[in-house]
Amino acid sequence: MLAKAAVVQLVRIVGKDGVLDSPEELVAYSYDGTYEEHLPDIVVIPRTTEQVCQVVALAASEHLPIVTRGLGSGLAAASVPFGGGIVLAMTRMNHLLEIDEQNAIAHVEAGVVTADLQSEVEKRGLFYPPDPSSIRHSTIGGNIACNAAARAVSNMV
Ligand SMILES: Cc1cc2nc3c(=O)[nH]c(=O)nc-3n(C[C@H](O)[C@H](O)[C@H](O)COP(=O)(O)OP(=O)(O)OC[C@H]3O[C@@H](n4cnc5c(N)ncnc54)[C@H](O)[C@@H]3O)c2cc1C
Repeated sequence: MLAKAAVVQLVRIVGKDGVLDSPEELVAYSYDGTYEEHLPDIVVIPRTTEQVCQVVALAASEHLPIVTRGLGSGLAAASVPFGGGIVLAMTRMNHLLEIDEQNAIAHVEAGVVTADLQSEVEKRGLFYPPDPSSIRHSTIGGNIACNAAARAVSNMV
């Protein structure tokens, strides 16, 4: 059970629309592509790196576990919050910041859907090789964390 003061702090950091805690909302963030499930105490959806830092600092001081989540398509239950606490959902950090065509380097936020990056680079005549069959429902952050689709993925972003 989360202390009310911690909830107030989280709302202060990410805004009211960045905090979910109704039973229905918690269920939506309690499982991934496996049959495992466990409810978090709260879901926090940051928009900036600064907000992520503040949430992590608060969680550390309150001794709250954090499980980071992309699109929850993982097949290892690694985004299931077995210890409760905070699910840090990265889906609003979904901006393609820079595509450096010359050096074939993309600078993107962690919550970018992988297919969005692939289609953006294709418009420029480039190809993003890692190609999990979950490409439309997984994120770059989730791909890197799982080393999904290709060993080279972490060298590509
Ligand atoms: C139908 C289907 C097909 C699939 N096909 C493939 C395939 O072809 N190849 C393959 O390798 N996998 C495949 N997968 C597995 C899954 O899609 C991948 O593991 C994918 O990388 C998960 O990404 P996600 O954004 O959904 O991450 P999630 O499932 O949300 O999280 C997975 C892990 O990454 C961590 N994580 C997520 N975002 C971040 C972040 N920003 N920072 C730090 N850690 C983070 C989570 O904490 C968790 O440990 C498939 C899954 C399904 C359901």
